[in-house]
Amino acid sequence: MVENVKRDLSLLILPNTVLLPGRNIKVKLSEKAGKRIYEKMVHDDSYAVVVALKDSEAKANYETEDFHRIGTLVKLIKSDKNKSGYTLTLDTVERIESTEIYIEDDGLRVIYDLNSVVDDLDDMNKKEVLKQVRKIVAETSKNFKGSEVFLEKMKAMDNIIDVIAYIMPYVNLTTSERQEFLEIDSLKDKSLKFLDLIIRHKESVSFQMEITSKLTQDMNENYRKNMLRQQLKAIKEELGETEGEKKSRKKDYKKLIEESNMPEDIEEIALEELDKLKRQGDKSSEANVIQSYLDLIISLPWGKSKIEESDINEARKILDKEHFGLDKVKERIIQHMAVMKLKKNKQGSIVLFVGPPGTGKTSLGKSIAKSLNREYVRVSLGGVRDEAEIRGHRRTYIGAMAGRIIQGIKKAGTRNPVFVLDEIDKLIANGQGDPSSALLEVLDPEQNNTFFDHYLDAPYDLSDVFFIATANNLSTIPVALRDRMEIIEIGGYTEYEKFNIAKEHLIPEVVAEHGLEESMLEIEDEVLTVVIQKYTREAGVRGLKKQLAKISRTCAEKIISGNDEESYQVREDMLEDILGRETARFDRVGEINPPGVVTGLAWTPVGGDILFIEGTMMPGNGQLILTGQLGDVMKESAKISQSLVRSRLAFSLKGLVLNNYDLHIHVPAGAIPKDGPSAGVTLLTAISSLVTDRSVDSKTAMTGEISLSGRVMPVGGIKEKVLAAHRSGIRKILLPKDNEIDLRDIPDYVKDDIEFLFMETVEDVLKETIGIELPKVDIGGMIADKTSEIGFKYNNKQEINNEE
Ligand code: ADP
Repeated sequence: MVENVKRDLSLLILPNTVLLPGRNIKVKLSEKAGKRIYEKMVHDDSYAVVVALKDSEAKANYETEDFHRIGTLVKLIKSDKNKSGYTLTLDTVERIESTEIYIEDDGLRVIYDLNSVVDDLDDMNKKEVLKQVRKIVAETSKNFKGSEVFLEKMKAMDNIIDVIAYIMPYVNLTTSERQEFLEIDSLKDKSLKFLDLIIRHKESVSFQMEITSKLTQDMNENYRKNMLRQQLKAIKEELGETEGEKKSRKKDYKKLIEESNMPEDIEEIALEELDKLKRQGDKSSEANVIQSYLDLIISLPWGKSKIEESDINEARKILDKEHFGLDKVKERIIQHMAVMKLKKNKQGSIVLFVGPPGTGKTSLGKSIAKSLNREYVRVSLGGVRDEAEIRGHRRTYIGAMAGRIIQGIKKAGTRNPVFVLDEIDKLIANGQGDPSSALLEVLDPEQNNTFFDHYLDAPYDLSDVFFIATANNLSTIPVALRDRMEIIEIGGYTEYEKFNIAKEHLIPEVVAEHGLEESMLEIEDEVLTVVIQKYTREAGVRGLKKQLAKISRTCAEKIISGNDEESYQVREDMLEDILGRETARFDRVGEINPPGVVTGLAWTPVGGDILFIEGTMMPGNGQLILTGQLGDVMKESAKISQSLVRSRLAFSLKGLVLNNYDLHIHVPAGAIPKDGPSAGVTLLTAISSLVTDRSVDSKTAMTGEISLSGRVMPVGGIKEKVLAAHRSGIRKILLPKDNEIDLRDIPDYVKDDIEFLFMETVEDVLKETIGIELPKVDIGGMIADKTSEIGFKYNNKQEINNEE
C-alpha cells in the first residue's frame, strides 16, 4: 500500500515532464544517470518522486522553491540496460505534495505527503463523464486506421482517473498547463477540465493518436525482424556455425563451483543445475533462470569464516572517536562484544537499537563493524510485507529472487558481517506469509545455522553474522521478535549534546562532503546554538545535519564565486538568508492556563513534546465528547478520568453536578493521531480543573497512566518528555512515583531548572494541580467524604439540585 512507502525519497528531474497518476511510462536515460537513479530507487524499495521544475533552465544548485509543490510518486517496474543506456519503466502511483527538497550526496531528495484527488463525483456523474469522453474520442479518431485499439482500451477502463491518464498524453499541452491540470484537487473539476481540454484539442488528440498508432506498427515490424534474427542465430549455433562462446562459460561454471568452497550437498545441487543447463541449451527459456541461480551460489561466501580477533580496547576507542556521548549505549555494546569474545564469536543474542530518527543507530552499526574488523551491510525492512522478501521466492516463480538476507550476505562477501536490519518496527504483517516469522528464524541462534532461503533452496549458515536491528518504536515490533533481541535504548539528545555532535562530527562531515576545507567555514558557537534552537525540531540530529549542509552549500558557492576570500564566516543575521525563516516554533507555555487547560507531556517516535489538553463544558446530560483523533487507549483514559472525577470529586465536593453538563475534551493538534495511556494524569487534571473552575499553573506539566482504582502508574519516554518540557519553559513536572528512577538519565542542568514531584495516587495529583485535598480512597472511589465544604464558582451554573 502506498501509505507505507517512505516519506523521504529521491527526486527525479525529468525535463519538461509532468506525470499524471495511473499510467506506466518509459524513461530513457544515459548509462550514468540511469544507473544512479536505478540504484537509488532500488535502495528506496523501488520508489521515487517526480516533481516538475518551475523553470526549465538547468541550475547548479536547486532549492525547494525551484520546484512545484505537487508532483507524482512513481514505482520502478522494470529496468532495461542496453547500449545506449537505461530504460526505466515507471508506474505513476499517486499524487503527492512535497514539503521539503534537500541535497544528499549526489542527488536531491524530497520529503512529501500523499495528496490524492478528492473524489467528489457520485457514481452517476462518473458514468456520464466516461460516456462523454468515449463519445468525443470516438468521434475525433474515427478517421484513421488503427483507432479501434485506443477505443477498445478505453472501453475496458471503468475508472475516470485511468481514462484521464490514458488520454492526457495525447492532448497537446505545455508543461505548465499539464502542471496546472495535475494540481486540480477535485475529481469533479478535473473531469470538467478534461472534457474541456479534449474538446478544445480534438484535432491534436486525434493526430497524436494516429502518430502513435503508426509508430507501434513500425515497432512491431522491427520486433518481428529482431526475433527472426535471434532465432537464426540460435539455429546457427546449433549447427556449430558460430564460435562457441557460450561453451567456455559453461566450463567456467564448473570451475567456479569447485573453487567456491560450497558444502558437498550444495555442490551436488549446483552440478545438477549445470547439467540441466547443458541439456537444455543456453537459448532455452530456463537458461537465464539457471544461470542467475548459479551466479548467486557461486558468489555467496561459503566455508569457514575468518575469525578476526577483536581488541576490546581498540573497539572502545573507535566507538568514542566516531560518536559523541552515548556513554551507556557504548558501554552496553562493549559488554556485548566481550561476551561474544568469550563465546568465541558465536552470537548469544541480537542487539536492537531503539530510538528516534537521527540518533546514530545506523551509524553505530557501521562503527561496530569497523571496530570488529568486519564487513558492514544494511538492509531496510520498512514496508516489507511479504515473507518472500526475507526468505526469497521459489525458483519456479517468474522473476524469482533470493531474499534480502541472502542478498545482503552476497553483498558483504563474508560469512560474518555486521548486518544491520533497519526499521524492523516497520515490517508489515498481512496475509501473504508473515515476514516477521521469517525474521524470527533469522534471529534465532538455535535455528539460524540452517536458514532456508526458498530461492537458494539449500540451508545457509547465518550463525556467525552479527545482527543489529534498529527501530523507532518498540510497540510495533511483534513480541516474539522483541524477545529475541537485546534492547538498547537511545534517547533523544539534549541541546548540549547536539551542539557537541555538530562541532565534532557533523560540521567536519558536511564540510568535507561539499569539497571544502575545515578552515573555509567558520560558524561561531552562538550561531550554531541558534541553528539548533530555531531551525531544527527533533530528538536526533538528522535535521541539524541537513541545515549544516545548506550552510556549507552557501559557503561553497560564495568561495567559488570569487571575491578571493579564503573563508566564509556565518553570522546570526545571515541565517535567514541561508536557511530561510525559523522553522522550529516551540510551543512555549503561556502565563496563565484557564480552567480546563492543562499542559501534558507526550512521547512520539521522533522525540518528546508538550501538549495542551483543553476542556469545556456545556448544558447536557453527562456525556463526554472527545476530539483530536484520539486512539482507543487514550479514549479509555479519558473515560477513566471522567469516572474518577464523578466518583471522587463529585462525591466529595458538595454541589458538584455533573449529570447536567456535557464535557468536551480536545487534544490539539487535531490533524495528528495520538494514542497511549500516558495522558491519563493530564486528562484527569483537565476534567477536574474544568468542573471545579480552578486553573492549573501553566508552567506545571505532567505525564502518567491512571487506573480506575486511582493509582498513578509509570510510563515510558521520560527523558524525551523532560527535555521537551525544559525547552518549553516548564518549571514543575509531575511524574509517576515509579518513574523516579528514570531521572538518572537527565542531565543535571535540566534537573536544576525543574522541580520534580512524584505521584502515587490521583489524590496526590489533584492536590498538586488544583489544590484540592481529598481523602485517600482504597478501591474504586466508593467511599467518599460528603462533608467537604469547598465552594466553587461552578455552583452558580447549577440548575437542578443534585441528589448526591
Ligand atoms: P538513525 O539510524 O538513528 O536514524 P543515523 O545513524 O542515520 O541515525 O545518524 C544520522 C547522522 O547523525 C549520521 O551522520 C551520524 O553519524 C550522526 N550522529 C548521530 N548521533 C551521533 C553521535 N552521537 N555522534 C556523532 N555523530 C552522530
